[in-house]
Formats: sequence, structure tokens, C-alpha cells
Amino acid sequence: MNVELVSIGNELLLGYTIDTNAAFFAREAAALGIRVVRRATVGDGADEIAAAVREGLERTGAVITSGGLGPTADDLTKQSIAAIFGRGMFLDESIVESLKARWKARGWPGELPKANRNQALIPEGATIIRNDHGSAPGIWLEDEHGRWVAMLPGVPREFRGMAREQLLPTLTARRGAEAGLVVRSRTLRLTGVAESALADALGDLAKDPLGVQLAYLPSWPGVDLRLTVYDAPAADAAALLDRAEAALRERVGRWVYGTDDADLAAIVLELLRTRGFRIAVAESCTGGMLGMRLTAIPGSSDVVDGGTIAYANHVKVRELGVREETLRAHGAVSEETAREMAAGVRARFGVDVGVSITGVAGPGGG
Ligand code: AMP
Ligand code: MG
Repeated sequence: MNVELVSIGNELLLGYTIDTNAAFFAREAAALGIRVVRRATVGDGADEIAAAVREGLERTGAVITSGGLGPTADDLTKQSIAAIFGRGMFLDESIVESLKARWKARGWPGELPKANRNQALIPEGATIIRNDHGSAPGIWLEDEHGRWVAMLPGVPREFRGMAREQLLPTLTARRGAEAGLVVRSRTLRLTGVAESALADALGDLAKDPLGVQLAYLPSWPGVDLRLTVYDAPAADAAALLDRAEAALRERVGRWVYGTDDADLAAIVLELLRTRGFRIAVAESCTGGMLGMRLTAIPGSSDVVDGGTIAYANHVKVRELGVREETLRAHGAVSEETAREMAAGVRARFGVDVGVSITGVAGPGGG
């Protein structure tokens, strides 16, 4: 099943709010075989909303909106979409009653503000999508050709809860004939290799990765290779991923440190633990970041002794025993200095493994 997402809100266009709802929905939906094929972001204007939703209805006939269901005058989602369907709005008294009850239950002073009554304005012929996480109900509108729009509030807690509990189960049930087809992903996590070198190493597999789609996701700790199978029978998806993973590992396995949520620091700690090793770090340009990464892992005290931030050269000499002569001959950013830092921290902490980092970092870096 293909769907489109329209995220509504000036704050999204201005870049003050990151569209986490869309990312959340796409991930959750994919796991159920529902594919987000297009995403649009528009401001709060009624015309912008209507244009984006109309396009989606013409293309896919299945549109989910996020945002603009609040009680204030800038919340125009319902009205503008009702107009596309040629429906008027009416005040749903049962929603007014539940809003009043909610107001009272929370112990808020006075009567339900007039503005909140806007949340009880519903397009004719709409189905309510229950909201157990906030006040604005979601709305489902459908025309005689089965084209539909599902409107959810933008508040992430409400959007997520309603997507999970109401909308996704509805969509899964609707898939009917398509049922059983899934979208599944697996991530191979690599480090110590550049994206371009990785593509070279993959060779022909980069172009034809055995029926899965490959995405390269580089970031500073390494490159993730995401394998995705689209529209496969649930029973075949895992086998397709297994086969592709095995073929990829044959070419690039030496850089793979784990899959999916594997964390590089956690894996390093586990390798040390199984060998009964303890580690200390000597850091120059990273100023403690390596120690921070290692000590952020639960149970790190089993293997991490500590470390030295040796930013200035005299600290490298005094605290780590780096020789003045090495610094003079090779400079602080050199393999020779790095070796002496690592050996120094290992000796001084009396541990099995010393790791050092020296380099040029920072905005004026070379
Ligand atoms: P709204 O439902 O448009 O009134 O949005 C209410 C709140 O949810 C605002 O504080 C927004 O910043 C936040 N919000 C709206 N849309 C999104 C979105 N797509 N992703 C994450 N947060 C959002
Ligand atoms: Mg808004």
C-alpha cells in the first residue's frame, strides 16, 4: 500500500521544528508493508494545505496529514480539507462534552474556552480517529472512490500514539489483497572506510545487490549500509536480506562491526571484556570525547580505567612520557607521537590497552 504524508506547520518550514512525525510514521509503516512514497511540508495557510492534499489525492488517493488541528485560528487543516471533499462543518456535541469533561478532570479553572470548541468542529461524513493522548480528535475523510485523508495532530506524543494505536491498524486492515507484503530493512555498520572506497570494494554488488536496495549512510564514526526489501512476502523478506548480507560481507566484511543498533563503543568494550583486558585513553584534539563514548556504555567500569587529556605538548611530555625529541622531529600530529602517547598511557595506568588520539581539530583546523 502506498501513502503520502503532508506535514503542516510554519515552524517546520522555518526550520525551528524538525519533522520527526514524518520520520516516525515512515519507519513504523514500512514495517507493516505500508510505503510512504512522497512527503510534502507546507505552511499553515488553508490554500497551501488544500493544494498539497489535492495533489496527493490525485496521485495516490491516500494522504495522511500531521498538524494544524489545534483550537486556534491558525489551525485550518480540517476546514481546508473538508472543502476539497465538498463537505461542510458541524459542531459535534459529543466531542464538546468530552472536551469539557477533560477540562474538568484536569482541574483547570473556569469553563472550557470558546476556542476549544473549534476542536469539536467536524466535517460532514467524517469518521473520528480517537485521541487518547490529547484533546484534538483525528479525522478520517473518504470520498465515493475510496480516496481518503487521515488527519492527525502535530504534537509528537499525540501523533505517535494515534498512528500506532488507531491509524496503522486501520491501514493494515484495509490493505486487503496486498496483505502479507512487507518492507524490511537491515543495517550493516562499517567503520574505517570511506563511502567511495566502499562502493569500489562492493564492485558489481553496488549496482545489483541481489534484490535488495542499498543506501549508503555516512556519518563521522563510519558508514552504514542499509539493505531494504520492498513489497516482499513476509516469509521471503528475511531470506532475501540474509542472502544479500552474506554476499556483502564477503566483500566488505572486514569493515563491518555490527548490524542495526550496534554501537561501536559497546562492541569495543565487549571485545576487551571477553579478553580480560583493561583500557586507558590519551586524547589530544578530541579533548575527552573518546573517554566519554566509552564511559557512556553501562558496565564500562569493568574495562575502562581512565585517561589523560594531553592537549598541550608539555602535558604529553609530563603526563605521558612523550619525548621532547619526538615532538621536535615529527610534530605533535604524527604517528611517532601517537605511539608514544598510547604506550605512555598504557604504562602509567598499568593497563593492557592504551589508545591515543592526536590530530588537528576545530574550526581553523588543517
Ligand atoms: P499543531 O498540531 O500543528 O498545533 O502542532 C503542535 C506542536 O507539535 C507544535 O509545538 C509543533 O512544533 C509540534 N509539531 C507539529 N508538527 C510536527 C512534526 N511534523 N514533527 C514534530 N513536531 C511537530
Ligand atoms: Mg501547527
